[in-house]
Amino acid sequence: MNQRIYVDNSATTAVSEKALSAMLPYFREHFGNPSALYSYGQEAKKALEDSRGMVAKAIGALNNEIYFTSGGTESDNWAIRSVCESKNKMGKHVISTAIEHNAILRTLEKMQGEGYEITLLKPDKNGQIAAEQLENAIRKDTILISIMMANNVVGTVLPIKALCETAHKHHIIFHTDAVQAAAHVPINVRSLGVDLLSMSAHKFHGPKGVGALFVKVAVKPAAYITSGGQEKGYRSGTENVPGIVGMAAAIKEGTENLQNNTRQLTALRDKLIENTLKIPGTYLTGDSANRLPGHASFVFEGGKEGAYLINMLNEEGICASSGSACSASSIEAPHVLIAMDYDKEIAQSAVRISLSYYNTEKEIDTINERLPLLIAELRRRKEKTIR
Ligand SMILES: *Cc1c(COP(=O)(O)O)cnc(C)c1O
Repeated sequence: MNQRIYVDNSATTAVSEKALSAMLPYFREHFGNPSALYSYGQEAKKALEDSRGMVAKAIGALNNEIYFTSGGTESDNWAIRSVCESKNKMGKHVISTAIEHNAILRTLEKMQGEGYEITLLKPDKNGQIAAEQLENAIRKDTILISIMMANNVVGTVLPIKALCETAHKHHIIFHTDAVQAAAHVPINVRSLGVDLLSMSAHKFHGPKGVGALFVKVAVKPAAYITSGGQEKGYRSGTENVPGIVGMAAAIKEGTENLQNNTRQLTALRDKLIENTLKIPGTYLTGDSANRLPGHASFVFEGGKEGAYLINMLNEEGICASSGSACSASSIEAPHVLIAMDYDKEIAQSAVRISLSYYNTEKEIDTINERLPLLIAELRRRKEKTIR
């Protein structure tokens, strides 16, 4: 088998050298509990607060606006529940979109069972949501708007600043799931205006199981996990110090190298897209202009069982996915593509190739060489079974 080519970086990324070496001392030498008063604990406490500062700086926030969590899913759950809990005397209507991650969609579904009314905005053909569309959905009892910054399935980057301005014109709190965007596109919470923002370390070369929620000082979160009072009493539990240190190192590295990474990834991505679209009956999904730097996603005619192509790629050592890690095992069409009005059959052919700065031009050349052959092979096999 050839050497493995990993192009599923929207699902997760490798921990960077810098993040790993920053983490290591906090497993052994400095393993103390940040809540302890002796020096071991105080070293950990300092690392925790330095990390908070680094994460804050990367998104233009204040240190006391960053709360560490166990990842994107928890940050999303907390954001939604927190705002709903503190604002439900003013109304019980929440606006989000049909292309959100399940961390948002499933949470909203649950809220619906608890008496909240949910409006999910429908994206256009590119996966975009317009400010006017949001404006039209706002009601007197709307208490929260949650719209993702970048979509994991189709790579579209949404106009968060304009959407947030619309929300604020009506004095409604705005949350964004920036899990795919953080350290991949420039983020400044002040210029965007967002009130809450979710991040996850393992999507930007940090470790798994750690993330953060930004909450603007004026908004104040509701307590989510209760116990010993860590994270100012809002999110108790002994802090994941090595993970948090790794997250801080990774976001710092990603943010400092953002321009170079963007240039490198965009070039590789565009080469991949250009070549793939030469395959007859193959289409790019998502916005071709406002798009994550390393994200390429396609559907192709006659590929109803997209999972086959993913398996064929896997047999050649190429790790890609059908659109979302959470539903990768099934041949279910990604809900994002259905919301974008793709018919079910073509949506099932979805392939997502998401790059990182560890990918090389040679790897892209290999994919460009193999993909057309595999799609042709898949179509031939299918014809045979029909006959
Ligand atoms: C991966 C992802 C999440 C979940 O983050 P975890 O850290 O894996 O829990 C949430 N939202 C989006 C858009 C994601 O891509």
